[in-house]
Amino acid sequence: AEDTLHDLARAQAEARPDAVAIRDGGCVLTWAELAALAETVAADLRAAGLRPGDRVAAWLSPRVETAAVLLACSREGWVCCPSLHRNHTVAEIEELLVRMNAAALVAETGYGADAGRADVFARAGALPSMRRVIALAPPAPRSAAQIAGAFRPTDAPAPPPAGAADHVVYLAFTSGTTGKPKGVMHSNNTLLANARALAGDWGFDAASVIYTLSPLSHNLGFGAMVLGILTGAELAIHDLPKGASLLARLRELGATFVFGVPAHAMDLLAEIEAAGDAALPSLHGFRISGAAAPRPLVEGLLSYGVRPQSGYGMTEACSHHYTLPGDPPAAIAGTSGRACPGYEIAIFDVEDPDRLAPQGEIGQIGGRGASLMLGYFDDQSATERSFNREGWFLTGDLGRLDPEGRLQITGRIKDIIIRGGHNIHPARIEALADRFPGVERAAALPVKDERLGEKVCLVVMPRNGAEIDPDGLLAHLDAQGLSRYDMPEFFLQVPEIPLGPSGKMLKRALLPEIAAGRL
Ligand code: ATP
Ligand code: MG
Repeated sequence: AEDTLHDLARAQAEARPDAVAIRDGGCVLTWAELAALAETVAADLRAAGLRPGDRVAAWLSPRVETAAVLLACSREGWVCCPSLHRNHTVAEIEELLVRMNAAALVAETGYGADAGRADVFARAGALPSMRRVIALAPPAPRSAAQIAGAFRPTDAPAPPPAGAADHVVYLAFTSGTTGKPKGVMHSNNTLLANARALAGDWGFDAASVIYTLSPLSHNLGFGAMVLGILTGAELAIHDLPKGASLLARLRELGATFVFGVPAHAMDLLAEIEAAGDAALPSLHGFRISGAAAPRPLVEGLLSYGVRPQSGYGMTEACSHHYTLPGDPPAAIAGTSGRACPGYEIAIFDVEDPDRLAPQGEIGQIGGRGASLMLGYFDDQSATERSFNREGWFLTGDLGRLDPEGRLQITGRIKDIIIRGGHNIHPARIEALADRFPGVERAAALPVKDERLGEKVCLVVMPRNGAEIDPDGLLAHLDAQGLSRYDMPEFFLQVPEIPLGPSGKMLKRALLPEIAAGRL
């Protein structure tokens, strides 16, 4: 396929100018309006002197302007970096802008973790690489014309599009779960390969209405946006104040698909159950990402005609694994499904990633295919290290393939605890501990041990100030089948286990507490 995202959006604008392309809490844009807005953004940044390959950063709350910036980049061959999120501080944003040598920044006033205390516009404007900084007001109700007013008008005629399908168009930072976030480069082609597979398997088209609870600064929400551009589906960006009814909003919009994390799906299921049957006739799918979907959730959604899709993916390879519409509940709850068309995976020996692991055994998950990144930004050696000799991308994740070719993820290599030569998978312990009454979140971490190398410490965060009885919890783990070799030997109760931007536990933050010896 030779299309760019910009070509696809233009085609929608010509075929269905008045259909809704994208909406947020304050604005609804048709395809014609979105395409026109992309031209406005492109003209502004062209006039500022941007050249093909330049980086354009966006630090925005979930709002429609992100789509216009992305399409402008696709048109001009610029690289869009929208993966700056709300928890970033201005100093962190500045560091990322320096790392990517950004030529432009589109940012929202009063946004970010230290809003009001630091000025991102002054700091960004002072960077030598920076040619243009654009400030957007918070996303109040606004028209397409009002949005266009934030950009500089130009009389110069627009040159023909300069972007090509294989140009880098997306620079995304990984979540930083295992270390410093890495910049990942994707082209129009790699993004669209993934979106085409998903659209084919799950039947997305111009009649679909996708509601994304995940922000566009995150891969899941960004992927929903690409899917919308490919298929002409309407993308509705999460626009609800805390406590408002998601069910009512989905009904109002006629949403056919929701993208979110397991907690979102659980909340929705609880609302549907409370509302009784036939609550949501339009909704037929829920994409559950980031972590495995528990069985009761899967069965609950299915009983209301909502097909859960459980998936596996990463910044480097998009969402290349997912369950299919016809999969039985056991497959959806127990695995991350099959590789999407155009992508394949294999399991490699943990010690020697050039060797395949024996069939059915746990090893490092490797992948290759059309949705794989072009490489890490400005880091050739990290790019080389992440591929094995045969050119498979090494994910750093552990898993096994069942006889049907479905993937079971068991954890991360960096996460593994080795007790006297025995590999312990924290993810398994955590999943079991999470089911103990009163436990909000649990993390299994290594404690240094002179004789055995490492032992397991279980850190728990109680729900609503509950007091967790360690002996009861251990008995629960035992009853659930955890072997005595895997059993935690230390226990720590903390008020908070912090979560990263994509909802993953930031376990590294707990290490000092364990080292402090409060065991
Ligand atoms: P970093 O690479 O910076 O350490 P990260 O790997 O957490 O951070 P992302 O690319 O956002 O950054 O997340 C991808 C990772 O998330 C995967 O490699 C995997 O470890 C985990 N993951 C994704 N989907 C699932 C899933 N369905 N079940 C379990 N883990 C998952
Ligand atoms: Mg990673």
